[in-house]
Amino acid sequence: MRDFEYLAPCTLSEALQLLAQEDVHTWPLAGGTDLLVRMKDGSVKPGRIVDLSRVAELNGISEEEGIIRIGAMTRYSEVASSPLIQAKAPLLSEACRQIGSWQIRNLGTLAGNLVNASPAADSVPPLFALDAEVILANHRGERAVPVALLAEGPGRTCLGKDELLTSIRFRPLPEAAVSFFLRAGQRRALAISKTSLAFTGILDDRRSTWKEVRIALGAVAPTVIRAHRAETYLVGKPLRRKVLEEAAAIVSEEAKPITDVRSTIEYRRLVTGNLLIQGLWPLMKED
Ligand SMILES: Cc1cc2nc3c(=O)[nH]c(=O)nc-3n(C[C@H](O)[C@H](O)[C@H](O)COP(=O)(O)OP(=O)(O)OC[C@H]3O[C@@H](n4cnc5c(N)ncnc54)[C@H](O)[C@@H]3O)c2cc1C
Repeated sequence: MRDFEYLAPCTLSEALQLLAQEDVHTWPLAGGTDLLVRMKDGSVKPGRIVDLSRVAELNGISEEEGIIRIGAMTRYSEVASSPLIQAKAPLLSEACRQIGSWQIRNLGTLAGNLVNASPAADSVPPLFALDAEVILANHRGERAVPVALLAEGPGRTCLGKDELLTSIRFRPLPEAAVSFFLRAGQRRALAISKTSLAFTGILDDRRSTWKEVRIALGAVAPTVIRAHRAETYLVGKPLRRKVLEEAAAIVSEEAKPITDVRSTIEYRRLVTGNLLIQGLWPLMKED
């Protein structure tokens, strides 16, 4: 690795002041599970690293006035084991439990996953399905951005050079909501997803038709995407196997994957639809 300056501010305002200085190419450091890999392979050559791990304001999970807030430096292991997230956003907890290994989950953060902007980022489809937003701050103030607008392409986001992602927030799911996150990879652990799917759905009072549905797909487009056509198709439809199979076929069509070292277009399309079937099949009534 090349030499670089390392700074570890203790407050958010110090961190933001450091990012506002334009003289050096500055990179924020969260868990380092992506950034250090890129520094070691030479694809990132920072002049200065601003380590966020001492900034207490960026830590923790809370619920206030009906909004759940996850601080940018909260590690996957904390999100996965949080009783609040398990009760009110269980699909996010499921996704965090499946990421990397114990070591990665004890260091890695949702914020790093979001800013790294890999289409295969596993925590991002659940955040799309929760309709989350992220708070971006610089030394002048902050703005809220829907999570779906953060990534602009593989490795690219709308974040300014002087901005930090400070927190993620979303409304809790109602108790009766249906939700899940499923992914397919080469192995169960330490494998980048070939495809993934996050689902949140609310049924009508008789629990017979879908009132609201959100479906997000990972690793099958340049960014995580919503399967809007399948969502619209499902709303108002009953819990029938034929309906589910049709929705899965639409999901497969909406997926726009590529063939690469990990998988093929055909496999990714088919399996993405199958993930929807796998997640919802136990709820279906016979046709
Ligand atoms: C062995 C291994 C296994 C992995 N397995 C998985 C997996 O199963 N699923 C998966 O999705 N990912 C996986 N990853 C990738 C990685 O762990 C995740 O993307 C992780 O969430 C990155 O978070 P981090 O806190 O380590 O980010 P860092 O590496 O510290 O940062 C990543 C990027 O985000 C920027 N950044 C970080 N925090 C902020 C902030 N608050 N504001 C602005 N910019 C910020 C950094 O400058 C950098 O550009 C794996 C990585 C490794 C090495």
